[in-house]
Amino acid sequence: MDIHEYQTKEILARFGVPSPKGGLAYSPEQAAYHAHEIGGNKWVVKAQIHSGGRGKAGGVKICDSESAVFDAANEMFGQRLVTEQTGPAGKVVYRVYVEEAVDIQRETYLALVLDRASERIMVVASREGGMEIEEIAANQPESIIRTTIDPAIGLLDFQAREIAFALKFAPSQIQDAVRILRGCYQAFRDMDATMVEINPLGELADGSIVALDAKLAFDDNALYRRPEISELRDKTQEDTREMQAADRGLSYVGLDGNIGCIVNGAGLAMATMDMIQLAGGQPANFLDIGGGASPDRVAKAFRLVRSDQNVEAVLVNIFAGINRCDWVAEGVVQALEAAPINIPVVVRLAGTNVKEGRQILARSGLPIIRAATLSEAADRVVTAWKNHKTQSGNAEAAV
Ligand code: GDP
Ligand code: MN
Repeated sequence: MDIHEYQTKEILARFGVPSPKGGLAYSPEQAAYHAHEIGGNKWVVKAQIHSGGRGKAGGVKICDSESAVFDAANEMFGQRLVTEQTGPAGKVVYRVYVEEAVDIQRETYLALVLDRASERIMVVASREGGMEIEEIAANQPESIIRTTIDPAIGLLDFQAREIAFALKFAPSQIQDAVRILRGCYQAFRDMDATMVEINPLGELADGSIVALDAKLAFDDNALYRRPEISELRDKTQEDTREMQAADRGLSYVGLDGNIGCIVNGAGLAMATMDMIQLAGGQPANFLDIGGGASPDRVAKAFRLVRSDQNVEAVLVNIFAGINRCDWVAEGVVQALEAAPINIPVVVRLAGTNVKEGRQILARSGLPIIRAATLSEAADRVVTAWKNHKTQSGNAEAAV
């Protein structure tokens, strides 16, 4: 789960990581009021969306009067910001953060991530901040420092100092940098985070070091014991389809293709997506209904897949071990009877109670295309999708 920049800054501040003075606004009036309260004569207005790259997309504006703050906020509210990270759908701005604008001397990069290879938390840092880590990796790969942390001992002072020196902080700044590093590590551990990113970690004219932008992501599997974090969830920033799936206990990832997939088991779901591509189609989603799915759950999954406007054919691919093919078949029939469908549906069943499952499909009298193997299923769904497309194209032309 992701949270907003202002929320991250608030959390990190509790761990000793400083950032400029700021206030959150839900209206332009509130934004101007915050500017007045913060004082000074220069502010930054920042769109709060779950994405980086806001600067380039017009989501970060420097203003030199309270009325300019009002105008910048006014323009951002309700706007759909499309950044390099949001995809073409973008994300809508409902909150803006107003901060005192500071005089930046230098921008560095600091992140803590989970390194799967070493199974440890890893600090990734660079003296070249401000741009995204992908750009740093492409332009100045030699500037990137990576340090893994032993979970039994935590981040040691000498490691933190080494990182601080590599970031080119002056001896007088090392202590501050070390405090920030330790704070980030502590926040990561204490909050069940999966990532902390400060980009830029800025060095100001007076030599102080502050987090100018900050991002925190959390482990969804630990949210049950972090109610204070769950509360920060902002559903307006999440993929509607994925959110609905999570609410129903299904693992779902929305994709850009048009063949909806309902599969049990993550490995089989991956293989199914590959087979669809091999057959010349594109999957619209990854959906794992899990083991032991009841007819009701299958029907829910079906409705979820169909709610995606891009879906023009559906493939149900079940290899039942713990699952039962008859239950899955019942779920499919239940979903189709409740809401008839005018796109092709291909079902491939194998494993426990396969005979009963196939009988249920056959007896339903529904126009379900059946397949025996995975490759047959992928071929059939892609062929049926193509035929359906030409037919509906002809029908439209005839009107
Ligand atoms: P992102 O584009 O979503 O990563 O948003 P950031 O918060 O990182 O802002 C983008 C850029 O705006 C930063 O890299 C800074 O160069 C600039 N910026 C942000 N805050 C300030 C500030 O207080 N003063 C100045 N001068 N620039 C700022
Ligand atoms: Mn940034």
